[in-house]
Amino acid sequence: MTTQDIQLQVALPDGSVREYPAGSSGYDVALGISEGLARNVLAAKVNGKVQDATLPIDLPADGKPVSVQLLTWNDLEGKSTFWHSSAHLLAEALESLYPGIKFAIGPPIENGFYYDVDFEGKHFSQDDFKKVEDKMLELARQKNTYVRKSVSKADAIAYFEEKGDPYKIDLLQGLADGSITFYTQGNFTDLCRGPHIPNTGFIKAAKLMNVAGAYWRGDEKNKMLTRIYAITFPKQKELEEYLTLLEEAKKRDHRKLGKELELFAFSEKVGQGLPLWLPKGAIIRERLENFLRKAQVRAGYSPVVTPHIGSKQLYVTSGHWEKYGEDSFKPILTPDVGEEFLLKPMNCPHHCEIYKTKPRSYRDLPLRLAEFGTVYRYEQSGELHGLTRVRGFTQDDAHIFCRPDQVSEEFMKVIDLVLYVFKALGFNDYSAQVSLRDPDNGTKYIGSDENWEKAEAAIINAANEKGLPTVMEKGEAAFYGPKLDFMVRDALGRKWQLGTIQVDYNLPERFELEYTGADNQKHRPVMIHRAPFGSMERFIAILIENTAGNFPLWLSPDQIAVLPISEKYEAYANELFLNLQENDIRGFVDVRDEKIGRKIRDAEVAKVPFMLIVGEKEQAEGRVSVRRKGEGDLGSMTVAEFTALFQEQVKV
Ligand SMILES: [Zn+2]
Ligand SMILES: [Zn+2]
Repeated sequence: MTTQDIQLQVALPDGSVREYPAGSSGYDVALGISEGLARNVLAAKVNGKVQDATLPIDLPADGKPVSVQLLTWNDLEGKSTFWHSSAHLLAEALESLYPGIKFAIGPPIENGFYYDVDFEGKHFSQDDFKKVEDKMLELARQKNTYVRKSVSKADAIAYFEEKGDPYKIDLLQGLADGSITFYTQGNFTDLCRGPHIPNTGFIKAAKLMNVAGAYWRGDEKNKMLTRIYAITFPKQKELEEYLTLLEEAKKRDHRKLGKELELFAFSEKVGQGLPLWLPKGAIIRERLENFLRKAQVRAGYSPVVTPHIGSKQLYVTSGHWEKYGEDSFKPILTPDVGEEFLLKPMNCPHHCEIYKTKPRSYRDLPLRLAEFGTVYRYEQSGELHGLTRVRGFTQDDAHIFCRPDQVSEEFMKVIDLVLYVFKALGFNDYSAQVSLRDPDNGTKYIGSDENWEKAEAAIINAANEKGLPTVMEKGEAAFYGPKLDFMVRDALGRKWQLGTIQVDYNLPERFELEYTGADNQKHRPVMIHRAPFGSMERFIAILIENTAGNFPLWLSPDQIAVLPISEKYEAYANELFLNLQENDIRGFVDVRDEKIGRKIRDAEVAKVPFMLIVGEKEQAEGRVSVRRKGEGDLGSMTVAEFTALFQEQVKV
């Protein structure tokens, strides 16, 4: 190319700037880098907006380089473009198999996509999935390009009137003329703003996952449509891996294991979203709480206890009433007129009042108040999910009141504590997200610029210092302060958001918290909210799914099962068990009239870490035969030897 041809300057994420002829697309940019990349490009992110990889990149008016990111399957937005395009392919397959059906919407979701379809009385069920998948792949192999075309609103409406699709016409009514585009691949045309992958040939594997009912526009007054959930992949192998993962996730579902292992339950009578902790679950919870209590005492926290309700005025002061009052539990009224209380939605306001119980000086800070505080928040019944979305839960909450110059050090200490907790519980793959201010929208935030700058620098510095892999999100901070969220990846590679550390300038202001500085003047303390587990309920759910119920020894509800081979050895088994119990080892003696093989199997299913089998030989020699779950037979040991082995493994 000659110099005159170069009119488009492209800035790539690695910082390099490349030059292309005007009219080049994301695909052309990729091709200029390598053919391999070009083969994998699904879409292009141009100045922050995702567009078709084949669409020419607009020349910038300011003559500056255009920022371009080439999206592949490895990018979330690449995947989402892939799945969105696959929804069109699903619709094409359905239309060719069921001519005359009507289409509503087909968006991508976290894993795959769906399409809402009006089958107009035609039967559609799981039995039809295979036929549709085959059709999708047949059409995919044709490598049909997704062709974009701008249409006028009138033409668009005319098209769907002719076709007889009332849902698309309904959607069109809400769109402005001049902004409407159609996309056609093969024999199927859809109303869509895009973007899409270059052609259907990228789709190499397709699976229909589920079929459900869904009202048009989510309104039960409207017609019930058929929602078809599906997922696609660029490789058959990836589909197989995904299905294996799903199977494994199903086996580990905390709702299923919680029931099987008798950890927790729900009762209609007690109420939706209000978990009941059964004895075995309560032991895990108590152990976790004690573990954290100990760590918090070492880290200088003071435990406090506050009530489950608070005067409505408390939450008017904190601002929670204004923000959440309408959408949460209604106030509790007393027989005395005019008294109103709320179920506690957060512990912070109570802790602010504890701060205010006496004058504080700069020497008293930081003050770290910790509480396993149970809070209640209204969730719609459709949103409730096992222990991860509930209406009453206990936070491992704490609030640190400190001087602005202490934020950095306090942050590092909290990170230390959170990482200690993660390591002890086997979460070794973690990262952090730091939410910062939007620098272009300074007015939306409370607190001085100086304090914000200090706090943001303190968080970033603390995360770096502690070697946390961190992503920064500008504009994601709450109006009252920047924060750091921890993400962990579980054994199945799923990401969960866990503990949060949040800086807060708002509540100290609202509650008029003060301390006397070295200058003898009054100052506002900074408040830091932090919860390493988040909530006990959600954390235990994640722990169950991460370990598949095989908890670390120190958390196992039953750590040992003593299994006498027959009734004859029951007395020895009981004596042995009492002896071990004195060493703080928990479990039970299986005295059922069952064969030893059955007892072992049942203990395995109950995920008991150690099985101690005793028969004639063991009794005569004062020994036990030890089996370790997941490891098998460890041979015969004296009771002292077993106790030593246990003590070694039970350490946190
Ligand atoms: Zn589309
Ligand atoms: Zn708080």
